[in-house]
Amino acid sequence: MNLDLNGKKVLVRVDFNVPLDKDYNITDDTRIRAALPTIQHIISNGGAAILMSHLGRPSKKLKEDGSIDVERFTLKHVVDHLSKLLGVYVKFCEETVGDKAAELAASLKPTEVLILENTRFNKGEKKGEEAFAKQLAELADYYVNDAFGSAHRAHASTTTVAQFFKDEEKAFGFLMENEIKNANKVLNNPERPLTAIIGGAKVSDKILLLERLIEFVDNLLIGGGMAYTFLKAQGGQIGNSLVEEDKQELALKLIQKAKDKGVNIYLPEDSVVADAFSNEAQIKVVDSNAIEDGWMGLDIGEKARAAFSEVVKQSKSILWNGPMGVFEMSNFANGTNTIANVVAEATQEQGAFSLIGGGDSVAAINKAGLAEKVSYVSTGGGAMLEFLEGKELPGIAAIKG
Ligand code: AMP
Repeated sequence: MNLDLNGKKVLVRVDFNVPLDKDYNITDDTRIRAALPTIQHIISNGGAAILMSHLGRPSKKLKEDGSIDVERFTLKHVVDHLSKLLGVYVKFCEETVGDKAAELAASLKPTEVLILENTRFNKGEKKGEEAFAKQLAELADYYVNDAFGSAHRAHASTTTVAQFFKDEEKAFGFLMENEIKNANKVLNNPERPLTAIIGGAKVSDKILLLERLIEFVDNLLIGGGMAYTFLKAQGGQIGNSLVEEDKQELALKLIQKAKDKGVNIYLPEDSVVADAFSNEAQIKVVDSNAIEDGWMGLDIGEKARAAFSEVVKQSKSILWNGPMGVFEMSNFANGTNTIANVVAEATQEQGAFSLIGGGDSVAAINKAGLAEKVSYVSTGGGAMLEFLEGKELPGIAAIKG
């Protein structure tokens, strides 16, 4: 963050979109903690931090009278916790822009921290509106974007606002820098072999990712619900497993493309199948290409776990996105846990670089207690996916100029 902060006011876009329980207690503060280094850096160098973020989707959950449910979506919910984590009293402004925000921002002293109300309480936010962005920009001398999780959205506070600052007045925060640096370790000249482990429910969500990965990975392991579309497309019998009929042709094309590029593509040889989508269902392990009607594959089987593990252990760079099964249910969590463990092992024992690329694989690695044992756990689900797909994220482009 190459900014001379002393005596300056810094408008910081953070991602404080944290989960809350029904009493508005924060149930997971990972995103707040992830922004602390940037905030601490600003205040310890004599700057004042004006924080802004969205929280939830207030425009989708309006009150009966059509107004915004301020009580539910206010950023006030994070103020006390942030104060505790920072060890400084954090001021709160009940509006995002306007007279009060301007007044509080103007009276902010060096080393102080102010948090503005939810950016999404303003219609201009999601539209990326200039007038709203300009009002935000007028609150500060500098703009820092540390909200990697929102960098794929061209909103006022993540993108438009940057145009009101000169190149030398805007920068990425440390979290943003870290996310970009670690994703680039996989994308640019990774140590080989490079293995991508892709899972999750649907092929359709990950088409662009798969297409891109096939261009440069050495090994592609496909697990989770999406594997069954590939298996069926190749003539397998998948019973009642999840399938996207209209993606079978694409699956065959991806397999062919992988072959043409010399990428080793692995599908699960066997599966844990169940007679219902339930943790109480009957289960057995069968060949993934011979699943009877009435049964569905909900996790990768023992042979697949062993084969996938072998590939991961031989890898020098690893990207993991998406669970290997319905890991939320204990009977179908084995495949995902095995991957979490073997990725951690390859990192710790073989010195592999491992990136856990967002979404449910992050939940899985945290659940397994292994987040500290892998190289990097991304905080941005959709944003990381788009970054890995090779898209230019508007929040990043706005700072780079
Ligand atoms: P995604 O958000 O695309 O990464 O998908 C994650 C979801 O996929 C999780 O909620 C898993 O329960 C689900 N999933 C993984 N494997 C399967 C499977 N074999 N059948 C159905 N759902 C699955």
